[in-house]
Amino acid sequence: MNNKSLVITIDGPAGAGKSTVSKILANRLHYKYIDTGALYRAVALAAKNKSIDISDDLMLEKLCEELQLKFVHTEEGLRLLLNNKDITDQIRTPEISMLASGVSARPCVRKFLFKIQREMGKEKEAVFEGRDMGTVVFPEADVKFFLDASHEKRAERRYVEIASKSSQNLEEVKKDMQTRDKNDSSRAIAPLKAAPDAIVIDSTNLTIQEVIETMIYYINKSLI
Ligand code: C5P
Repeated sequence: MNNKSLVITIDGPAGAGKSTVSKILANRLHYKYIDTGALYRAVALAAKNKSIDISDDLMLEKLCEELQLKFVHTEEGLRLLLNNKDITDQIRTPEISMLASGVSARPCVRKFLFKIQREMGKEKEAVFEGRDMGTVVFPEADVKFFLDASHEKRAERRYVEIASKSSQNLEEVKKDMQTRDKNDSSRAIAPLKAAPDAIVIDSTNLTIQEVIETMIYYINKSLI
């Protein structure tokens, strides 16, 4: 692979394997990995800590003005600091997942995070993972992927992933996922959908390695 600086976007629903794949891909390319879902989760956590009603746009806008979000790469992996406090572990609960989906439908939150994400992409050489990376935030991205999988498979993966941190059973995980998918795909602004020029990969019957190899194939192809 030559060393051209690229912006690579990976969008898709929860549990499709985006985070795992994005991390490995970024590592392999020596690129930055940006988990944009964590940013929405951070806003959700901040709103929860201040008991802000997430349908109150005025309060949400005020809240965003007070938030400083920064990713740091440490030995433990990518960590997210909210006003200099490491919140990486706190934002991985089912409650914050649902709240994040709620705040992500509010225009002021999307506007606030749009700016931060564009700033993070300035230097390129980055893999951005999210819901609207290829459609809204980086419509000019060099290579866009949309990673999907069956609802059943995504719920199973998510269940295994959060088993040590959550008491939810598989059925509850499935239900939460369905609600979040519906919210994320049907919201008025930046709904979850594949960009017209995205490469759609269905990971239902693929291993992580197979997904990575497929992506590398398309990235190489884009460089020719
Ligand atoms: O990816 P993750 O599950 O951590 O994202 C949490 C929530 O943040 C999603 O359900 C979605 O509502 C929102 N999100 C978004 N746009 C992104 C990334 C995440 O709306 N680019």
